[in-house]
Order: sequence, then structure tokens, then C-alpha cells
Amino acid sequence: MRKTEGVGSRRDHEPSGRNRCAIAQKLRRHPDLVGSLLQLTAAGATPGCGCRAAGGGPRGNEETDSMSLPKAYAGRILRVDLSTGRSETLPTDRYAGRFLGGRGTATAIYWDEVPPEAAFDAPENRLIVAFGPLCGMSGGLGGSRWGIFGKSPFPAAARGAGDRFCYGNLGGAFGAELRFAGYDGLVVQGVSARPVWLEIEDDRVALREADDLWGRGALETRAALGERRPGFRTLAIGPAGENRVPLATVQADGDASCSGGMGAVFGAKRLKAVAVRGSRRSVPIADREALRRIDAWIRGLGRGNVKVWGLDFMAHGPETRRAPCYGCMGHCLRVRYTARDGDAGKFMCQSRYFYLHHAWNYYGEENEVPFRANRLCDAWGLDTWEVQGLIDWLLAARAAGFSVEHELELDLSRLGSLEFLEDLVRRIAERRGAGERLALGAQGLARTFGGAAARLDARCDPYDPRYCTVNALLYPFETREPIQQLHEAGLVLSQWSSWAKGVPEAHISSAVVRGIAERFWGGRAAADMTTLDGKAEAAHRIQDRQLAKECLGVCDWMFPLIDLPPGDDHVGDPTVESRILSAALGSPFGEADLCRIGERVFHLQRAVLLREGHRAVEDDALPAAWHDEPIRTHVADPDLLAPGPGGRVVSQLGRRLHRRDFARLREEYYERRGWDVPTGLPTRAGLAALDLADVGAGLEARGLLAPRARRPGPLRRLRRAWERFGERRRCLEPEARRAAPPTGPSLRGEALRAVLEAERAKFGLEAVRRNFRGWNKVMQYHFPDIGEYWVLRFVDGEVQPPERLEGPVERPDIRYELDTRTLRAMSNRELSGEKAYLTRRLRIKAAFADLLKLQSLNRL
Ligand code: SF4
Repeated sequence: MRKTEGVGSRRDHEPSGRNRCAIAQKLRRHPDLVGSLLQLTAAGATPGCGCRAAGGGPRGNEETDSMSLPKAYAGRILRVDLSTGRSETLPTDRYAGRFLGGRGTATAIYWDEVPPEAAFDAPENRLIVAFGPLCGMSGGLGGSRWGIFGKSPFPAAARGAGDRFCYGNLGGAFGAELRFAGYDGLVVQGVSARPVWLEIEDDRVALREADDLWGRGALETRAALGERRPGFRTLAIGPAGENRVPLATVQADGDASCSGGMGAVFGAKRLKAVAVRGSRRSVPIADREALRRIDAWIRGLGRGNVKVWGLDFMAHGPETRRAPCYGCMGHCLRVRYTARDGDAGKFMCQSRYFYLHHAWNYYGEENEVPFRANRLCDAWGLDTWEVQGLIDWLLAARAAGFSVEHELELDLSRLGSLEFLEDLVRRIAERRGAGERLALGAQGLARTFGGAAARLDARCDPYDPRYCTVNALLYPFETREPIQQLHEAGLVLSQWSSWAKGVPEAHISSAVVRGIAERFWGGRAAADMTTLDGKAEAAHRIQDRQLAKECLGVCDWMFPLIDLPPGDDHVGDPTVESRILSAALGSPFGEADLCRIGERVFHLQRAVLLREGHRAVEDDALPAAWHDEPIRTHVADPDLLAPGPGGRVVSQLGRRLHRRDFARLREEYYERRGWDVPTGLPTRAGLAALDLADVGAGLEARGLLAPRARRPGPLRRLRRAWERFGERRRCLEPEARRAAPPTGPSLRGEALRAVLEAERAKFGLEAVRRNFRGWNKVMQYHFPDIGEYWVLRFVDGEVQPPERLEGPVERPDIRYELDTRTLRAMSNRELSGEKAYLTRRLRIKAAFADLLKLQSLNRL
């Protein structure tokens, strides 16, 4: 290794320039291999390079051909050792042939170099920044998504296991800039004796003192580096990362945020920030014209910000402007918001919503607190998804009678205020007092309470497999929420929900979902969300495709191109990613080739996790609450509508995943993966067929390989069929539908008016009234049992007396549908609003923001 410029000194770094690959030459010499990189084994270590860590790993053939990789690759990966201050490069071709790039290359480097016994804060742990061969590509197709990988404390905090391999996926432009500096990735090893930041400008690599930055927020640090190094792209951690909080993020250029606990790994290495600038402003592409045609075709499809669950999740208004990632047409929610004080930052997706309803309930008006809440988390370097989970758990635990406020010194009556969030975030980031327990996240905190508190199901996951059953097998094989995988079926279902709710432009009907299931998920059985039929095959396909995408670096908002707004069947095209790759590299790729790479990376990750202590079968599991508790709500669709048998619109309210059904599904999945069904372990032959024989040898040495893949016998298969029949029967009678309806005569006339007056009076209570300040809306009640329509009108926040109408209002803002007996039961507090939802006695249609405000009535 060369000595990197030491702290406070400058010295140019010269890469070896010997990093070569045989891929291009092989393609030329063996045209029969053209079409599939996966048939090529990567070249081995470049002779004399000397930078490879010891240990048998995924090297492929030790080949010394010296032709270049396809030009889209830079050909080298930068390695920096924080313990010695030295740097070197390693050849990309060691990994690209089998793993393409991005997540695949990072996982392979991790397998090679990180001992399974090492803790996340050990010098042997690696921080691996990786992206795919499309990174830095201009045009609109994106391809510049990137990731950070390494051993993280997050899985230990979340699941109570040890430190594990984990990762985060980011957008913005940092990855593209590193590619412009001439690298296909960055590997950081060792631990610095003092805080440092890393500067990379083409071949010049330097470690700089960061004593003055340590303790500062991530956003402030990035701004400070931006002033010192204009034109550089930066990433940084906040105090949460410095204090090794498992929920700590890395904040990068364009407000891209990396979760998975990677901020804590930066902190453990005392690496505060990285700044990079490259002088190459473009990436060589083999067939630009082909890419241009694909780009133009996608733009012409009119995809983009579609309504999901009948709602528009996009932030609009003069304070917002689109902020796409590098080289992407940005048909998504990625928006930058400028606050009244001039502070600006991203404002989209979960981070936009996680504090919104708490803030509106607290202040009683719309304000900028949700934006500032996001900025606070980013500044301290904390994951908003995990902070949301903590808040949900605290509320659930308090409601269940646990003394969370007393034990954790929290005043939940202030929840919604900016001060409450600031105090919470600061305590977590500093691990001060109860912050030490809060820093474990919701599941970790729950474990510290023990008993029934540890089993509380508080998280409202929009992709919950009790609702979107295609997702049931996507959780058990990952060490964090696998959001890229969950999006595939989740975004289809959310758009189908818009269709089911009658949004005029929604085009994903039940028939389209069936078409998508056939083309993308292995069969139309996967389209029926009420059963687990077809879900093993669907999970297999989604995992392989999504992992291949993460090797490639394309975004899950755009790919796969699963639906087409225009067209006859509206079913998308699963070949687009492979066509893009073909054009970029100049060699033909098919969909199957790409998925094969994803399958290889999936197996490599399985091997990594098994080696680190993940127990096959036992840990291939879902949270107990998803088996034991019926699903009660959804953040955007309280009806939890989903396509059922024959595409029928059904509600998943009250559904749970029975253990025996899940066990059967897991068994089917093992079989499809070619694993040994009783143990869930891969086999030597299976791994060899994926060109992972070396990985198989590594597992075998640890007793983690099955000698052969045992299959279930005829009796077990018969039993499975019987269990499947039982599952269908259970699906037809979820718990929710067994609830007895309220009884008694219907209400009419003055009696009904009196009950509605009582409802109106609730809006006059001080705790509720402020939420509806300035409202001018119409709330319509439809009572099917008596065929009557009534309205409550809000005029400047004041509710007018109830009015009976001859028919429905043309466009009411809020629609309630319930019979008058249910209304009476709710008014008398014999039936809660939640139970009325759950038992489908009450239906509500309203804008998402209005629904959030109406939640304040539940506290009465
Ligand atoms: S579609 Fe994905 S890559 Fe493109 S701008 Fe949006 S988030 Fe970034």
C-alpha cells in the first residue's frame, strides 16, 4: 500500500495502473460466451498488486489476461487504511465478472475481507462504497444509485443477534462523482487514532484532521467541507454516528441518507466525512443511441408521480422543486423544499410524513415542523424510519399501561412539538441518560422492558405481509427492512388500491395485477393477496431481480418497469434493465442473465449471514406479532383493500399470517432455491452451479453446507396440499369479519339528529378544535340502513348544525359510510372508531392529511 497523505500533509497517490480484466478479451475470443457475463469468471489478482487481503474468497479463476474491462468501468477500486494512513487500488475485474458491481461487488469484498467474528468497530471491518457500471451515465435513465456496506450494530440492536453485514442504498450524486474521480468504489479499513475526513480528487487521496468537525451536525459538516472544497461532493455523519448509535445514518450530497447503521461504522472508524471531486465528467458508453431510444420511450410512457392508495404523496407548492439524483429523469417524489428561513432540503416519502400528524395534532395547524423534524434527524444523523418506529412503540406501550414516560423521562403530551423531537433526537444521538436505551430503536428498547412490552406490535409498515402477502418471504433473509424488494409488489398494490378506490387515472386493475404476476412473479397465483399460493416463486424472482438492480445501480422507483400507463394490457417490460446494461457495456445481456447475477449475489449474502451466525430455519422468520396479531390498520388505506380470489376487491383487515402457513411457504421456498429443505442450507452443487464453488468451500469448512438437497416426500406434499386448503378456508373468514354487528333499531329523524349533534359537539372541544382551525370542508354521512345522507359543514373551522340532504353531495371532502346503529354505538362509546374500521362497520374516504387530523378524535 502507498502512504496516503497523512493528517495535515499532502502527497499525491499513484494508482498502479495495472488493473486489467479479461472480460472484453474473452468476449472477443469466445463469441459463444457473448450474451452473459455470468459465464465469465473474473480475473484474479493482478500480479504484483499485493493489495489483496488474505483468505479464500470469491476470486474466480486466477487469470492474468490484461485486457480492459468494458469502458463503463473505471477498472480500479480505491482502498484506504485508516490505521496506517496508506492507500492503494484493487482491480475491479476481480469482482465485476461475477458480481457486476454495486451490492454484488461490495458483498464479495466483504466475504473476502471481513472475518465473521469481527465486531462492527474492529479495524478488520470494512466500509465499502459501491456502485454499478452505469454510475455517472448521463441522460435520464439514472444508474447512479450507490450503496454503503459493512458490518453494522443495527441488526444486533433490532433483532438481538450479533453484529451483521448490513447496507444502505442512496441517491444524489456522490457515487457519480467518485466514478468521475476514476474509481468503481471505495473500501475503508482500519481505525484512525483521531477524527479524520477523507479527501479524494482523482488520484490524490488524503486524510485530513477532523477535530474541528467532530461533534458537529452532519449537515453543518457537509456545509463546512463545501466551503473548504468548493465543487466537491460530500458525505458526513452527525453526533449519532460518532457515538456509534445503531440507528445512525450517513448524510450525503443531495440529502441522500444511508440507514442500516452505517453511520455508527463511520463513527467507530473515526471517519467524520468524505469529500470527492473527479475531473472526468462523463462515462464511456458503448451504444449511446440505444440508451437514448430507451430513455425517450420511457419518458413517453407518462409514468411518474402516480397516486398511491388513492392519495397524492408528492409535496407541491412554490417552496418545492424537483431534485433528481444524478442522471435521472426524476419521475418520482424527490423534491427539495425551501423553508421560510431559507433552510432547504429534501422533503419526500417517509421522512416527510414521519412527524407530520403529530405536529399537526400538537399545533392545530399546518406548519413547517414536519420539514424541520426531518432536518433535525438528518443533522444529528438519525434514521427517520427508526425514530418513527420508536415514537409508535412509545405510544403503544403507554396505551398498554407501561410506564414509559416515567422510566424514560419523556413527556409524551409534548409529542408533536419541535422541542419534543429535538430533545428525543439529542438524547438518542448523545446516548445520554435514557438515550442509551432509546438508541437501540423500538425493538431493542422493547427488549429492555421485557415481558409483554417486548411483544408489542407497534410499527405500521405500509408493506406489511399480512396485507401484501407477496412480501412474506422478503423480510427473513435480510438484516434490515429490504425496502427495494418491498417496493416491487408494494408499489403495484398501492396503485391498484387507487384503482379500487375509483381514482380515474389509475390503470392498475385486478386484471393488470394478474398480468404483472404472470410476467414478473412467476404466475397469476401471486396476484391473490389473500393466500400464500405462488408467493415462494414470487419472492425468489423479486429478490433476484432487485439484487441485480442494486448491482447495476438503477432505482426502484423506476425499475422494474412493471406497469405501462398507455398500452393494451398495461403490463410492463422486465427486459429494460438488461437492455440498458447491454447498451452500456456493448455486449448483449438478457433478463435471465441479469437475474442470474442477482441470484448469485443473493446466495453470497446468504453465505455471509450464515457465517456470521444467522441460523437457517430458526432465524428465517417473521416478527411474532405478524403471526399472532390481526392487522388493524394501514398508514394510508384504513380499509386495507387488496385483490383477492379472481381479482375481487377484499379487505385484509383483521388478517394474520398463521405460523403453519408460513412454515409451509418457507419450505416451498427452500425447495425452489435448491436448498436442503429440513435445514435450509445451500448445497455444494447448488453453489457451484452459480459459480460460487469457493464460497461453498468456505461454508463447508464451518459445517454450514448441506451434503445434498433433501426434498419433501409424497406424504409431506399431500399434507402441504391439505394445509393449503386450510389456509384458503381461514382466509375467507378473517377474525375481523366474525365480529358481531351492533343490534337494535335504526335511528331516524330527531333521534339521529341528536346523535349527530353530539358528534358535532366533539369538534368544539378545545383539544380537537385547534386541529380544524380554518377548515372549510364538507363531511358527508351516508346511512345505508335508512338510505339517508347528512352533512356536517366546516365554515372557517366552525362546525355547522347537521343537515339532512335529499341525495349525496357532489364532491364531499370526507365521506363516512356506516349504518345508524353503528353510529349510535360509537357515540355511546360501546364501539371504538378503530373497531368500527376493523369490523368494516365504518368506511371513510378522505385526503390523507384530513384522515390524519381526524385521528385526534380517537383520543377522546
Ligand atoms: S427515480 Fe430514483 S434515482 Fe431517480 S431521482 Fe427519483 S429517487 Fe433518484
